[in-house]
Amino acid sequence: MMTATAVVERNAYDAAMENFDHAADALELDRDVREMIKYPERILTVAVPVRMETGRIRNFNAYRVQHSTVRGPAKGGIRYHPNVTLDEVKALATWMTWKCAVVNIPFGGAKGGVTCNPKEMSQGELERMTRRYTSAILPIIGPEKDIPAPDVYTNPQTMAWIMDTYSVTKGYMIPGVVTGKPISLGGSLGRNEATGRGVFYTIQSAYQHLGMELKGATVVVQGFGNAGSIAAQLLHEAGSLVIAVSDSTGCIHNRNGLDIPALMRHKLATGRVSGFPESGPIYPQELLGLECDILIPAALENAVHEENAMRVRAKVVAEAANGPLTPEADRILESKGVFLIPDILCNAGGVTVSYFEWVQDEQHLFWESQDIYNRLERVMKTAFRDVLKIHTGRRAPMRVAANMLGVGRVAEAVQIRGLYP
Ligand code: NAD
Repeated sequence: MMTATAVVERNAYDAAMENFDHAADALELDRDVREMIKYPERILTVAVPVRMETGRIRNFNAYRVQHSTVRGPAKGGIRYHPNVTLDEVKALATWMTWKCAVVNIPFGGAKGGVTCNPKEMSQGELERMTRRYTSAILPIIGPEKDIPAPDVYTNPQTMAWIMDTYSVTKGYMIPGVVTGKPISLGGSLGRNEATGRGVFYTIQSAYQHLGMELKGATVVVQGFGNAGSIAAQLLHEAGSLVIAVSDSTGCIHNRNGLDIPALMRHKLATGRVSGFPESGPIYPQELLGLECDILIPAALENAVHEENAMRVRAKVVAEAANGPLTPEADRILESKGVFLIPDILCNAGGVTVSYFEWVQDEQHLFWESQDIYNRLERVMKTAFRDVLKIHTGRRAPMRVAANMLGVGRVAEAVQIRGLYP
């Protein structure tokens, strides 16, 4: 069986700091302002002991990082993955701050993570771990303070456990403490597909800007999970040909285009993309180098790095994942003339509908799905236009332009708030 791409080690937090410095330099940001907004406001490291099915107790290392609350409560997902480190969580929290500012929603940035392998854990172990982790971070989360959401290998059920643990402790139901909840517990219509839908809207905007047609465009997706599969489905519906996809178990290819709805059913039934009829296996290192119009890295950080970036032959790269390109890869793709839709713009649809969910929970008033889609499209296309304006007006690469928009908005807010005491 083919295995997924080996990821080159690159410290994600170093990359986040480098991105910040580029944007801050381009904005000619005052040194004092940089000092106030660059670093995480609060870092919590907790031990999470869990009774395993064997009867023994196992401890998991876990984190919650609040990078910024300058523009509103901290907001960001929780990741369960064996490679979770504090630096990774700090990087993801930092990117959340700029992302919320890019789409102009009143949130700061946060992220959480538990170093564990959820694929090897039972439902009971996952529930006990989630509840104990929630209890450990409970003093710093809440609808007005910090609102977690799903990320890699966490889902609406995980959010339901967090909401229940938090609510039972407080003594009444508080749905606004997390987003990405099941609909029956105050979740929002459209949240599950929001990230992929937002990716699609930004690709539509990019194509409009570049004067190209989505119909017939060829697409490659690395990571056929929540974000990647929905983006693939919407592009398929728009007439694009999704010619290759991968997940952590393998990569498949069909030069005439994969039947994405059928592939989604296959993945649901078997848990993997490999073995899908009317497709052939390819090696992960081939996937990123396939000739295509749109490449969507939708798995993890550092997927495209200095050793494989030269092989990328896409015209547009849409970062559904957070941090899938290292700064070195950025420079290489820039020199090749690839049009980049950077992560803090491209995948901001998830946090945008999370914001809609939080607003609905706080008001106890729920919106229809078409209403959500319309609002999301407006937010994503406005953000794209704002970033593009900086990109063209200041001749800044798209990544720098997006960071300039996000960092600039946070800088403005902190300057108006001032420094206490
Ligand atoms: P997910 O768990 O639903 O999907 C991740 C997918 O990536 C899985 O199919 C997994 O098999 C695959 N994968 C893992 N390692 C891989 C590898 N080395 N090669 C190929 N495939 C691999 O997670 P998701 O929610 O879709 O998140 C994916 C990315 O999108 C992450 O970077 C996440 O931070 C980002 N993101 C997600 C959301 C959201 O709302 N879900 C929002 C913003 C950003």
